[in-house]
Amino acid sequence: MGEAQVSLEHLFRVFTKPEHKDSKLAQIEQHLSDNILDFLSQHVVTKKTSLEEIEQDFCLSQVPESPEFVSAHAESLLDKLVAHSVNTYSPTFIGHMTSALPYFHLPLAKLLVGLNQNLVKIETSKAFTPLERQVLGMMHHLVYEQPDEFYQHYLHSARHALGAFCSGGTIANITALWVARNKILGPKGGFAGVAKAGLAAAYRFYDIQQLGVMCSRRGHYSLSKAVDALGLGRQQLLTLPCPQQTLDPRQALEHGKRYQEDGNRLLAIVGIGGTTETGHIDPLDELADVAKELGCWFHVDAAWGGATLFSEQYRARLKGVERADSVTIDAHKQMYVPMGAGMALFKNPEDANTVRHHAQYILREGSKDLGATTLEGSRNGMAMMVYSSLHIFGRRGYELLINQSIEKAKAFAHMIERHPDFELITSPTLSILTYRVCPQAIQEKLRTASKEERHQINQKVDRLVVNVQKLQREAGKSFVSRTRLETPQHPDRPVTVFRVVLANPLTSHNDLAAILAEQHLIATNNRVWQDLDEGKYSLTA
Ligand SMILES: *Cc1c(COP(=O)(O)O)cnc(C)c1O
Repeated sequence: MGEAQVSLEHLFRVFTKPEHKDSKLAQIEQHLSDNILDFLSQHVVTKKTSLEEIEQDFCLSQVPESPEFVSAHAESLLDKLVAHSVNTYSPTFIGHMTSALPYFHLPLAKLLVGLNQNLVKIETSKAFTPLERQVLGMMHHLVYEQPDEFYQHYLHSARHALGAFCSGGTIANITALWVARNKILGPKGGFAGVAKAGLAAAYRFYDIQQLGVMCSRRGHYSLSKAVDALGLGRQQLLTLPCPQQTLDPRQALEHGKRYQEDGNRLLAIVGIGGTTETGHIDPLDELADVAKELGCWFHVDAAWGGATLFSEQYRARLKGVERADSVTIDAHKQMYVPMGAGMALFKNPEDANTVRHHAQYILREGSKDLGATTLEGSRNGMAMMVYSSLHIFGRRGYELLINQSIEKAKAFAHMIERHPDFELITSPTLSILTYRVCPQAIQEKLRTASKEERHQINQKVDRLVVNVQKLQREAGKSFVSRTRLETPQHPDRPVTVFRVVLANPLTSHNDLAAILAEQHLIATNNRVWQDLDEGKYSLTA
């Protein structure tokens, strides 16, 4: 199909010539920039194709031998890829943390790709380097609110970093704990430090059995990747139970003390500034005290919730974040920037030096090359998208977006509470909430049932929730995610719940009412609902 000539002449054209305006790619481009919503609704068609069927389109493992015409290729992309992707702009897709983007990102993305700057070093990025440093400074200020002189001194200093820009929250968390590890097991006396001598030597020198990181069970799985990658081992991620959804500072202190008395050392406490599953915020101020008492690093994972700091009304919910040694914030979540924009911010601009690397041909000593203190090497200029968003929205614009998300979540929570066949499981601290469908009669039955009966019934309700979530997703009109949670309402065992993230500002109250109505309709037509109605609680019934 559409085989092109194998000649340098043809390839040079591919490099230099824009597509003819009637070509498929040019049409796609025009349609995208005229109206992306219309483009997506026309091309992302929800066919009931299973993943196995889709895999058939991607089953060849040989590199195609001959070049293909760009236009022909664009056609095949529409058919194989776009048609079976997810319409993230739909206001009824309320299950993900990354969603619709503001329009201006489309032309900006073209500019970004067009310029193709590499932020690893000044030579390949020029103005992008000071821009990225300024973005880090603005976000640092949002968290730590240091005086002007502080930023005048550190913003562009070659020997300091206010943070590390990276591809996302995962890398930001790893970076923050990497800095913490290298600082806590740093050079001392005759010891060269963990960065040079390695972990085994560091444990011997500091006379410790294990190095651990503590967080609640709601800690993001990236923390588990971090302790793995940093050589501490996944068993040293100490996750404490949190039936109330947040880390209990008293428990954290006791657990930390016991851990250290056994010959171990606590590297860090991680407070979560908006958990991925329920949006709860750990008591950061109290956890800062605990970290101080235990003598460990305090990291706040505010990948999702950090943007709440833009809101005068809600920023107090993150009180204590300014005491953290490091903070993770993802711009690609509540800051509406395309994916690939995370940040680790450091309270102390000296700390990034614990991971500083130099190389002869690149990252020379004394240079302002950002790559010297980032985990990633070649990196694009995503900071521009954050820079532009910060200017185009301004703090007050972001404040409005954050406030409306939280208010909408509260309104949805009321809708759920008023509905007899739904049960609100966690009410929104920010703009995430969880709930489940459960027939009213069953909710009443659960109040008086024995432990054994409760267990059986809840298993059956879990099944109902899973079925409804899957069937709704397959129907393709709307999407709500699901998770399993320990909750105070159902203390015996975790329950399966719907999880809603109100990310898209265009999601309306009517959309939310329609999603709930659709779930109710799917549920009442499900066999599990009939079983519950007839008192058949056993899963095999
Ligand atoms: C999303 C998230 C992460 C991971 O961020 P990525 O950008 O997906 O790598 C980490 N922590 C929390 C709390 C998050 O919500």
